Amino acid sequence: MASLITCPHCGTRPKEEFSIRGAAAPRRPSAGDRDEVWYAYVYVRDNPKGLTQEYWHHAAGCRRFLVVERDTLTHEVFGVTDAAALTRKEAAE
Ligand SMILES: [Zn+2]
Repeated sequence: MASLITCPHCGTRPKEEFSIRGAAAPRRPSAGDRDEVWYAYVYVRDNPKGLTQEYWHHAAGCRRFLVVERDTLTHEVFGVTDAAALTRKEAAE
């Protein structure tokens, strides 16, 4: 596991300050979607080997949700982005 995470708000911090909150790739279905779509969103997850994006919560710092891009095999971290900023950027595109 990566031992240091660079939070965009707090700087470089030990990983113990963060909690992993799950994969960032699944997109929330709309309220009217079928039960099968909601089931897949809530319960079905891949277990990727390699590059992945995850939500991390900086629980002992700024308490912001971040999107951490890391390799699940080597635990190397490639990038950390504020989740709200990333969502706003995707919505604008
Ligand atoms: Zn932080």
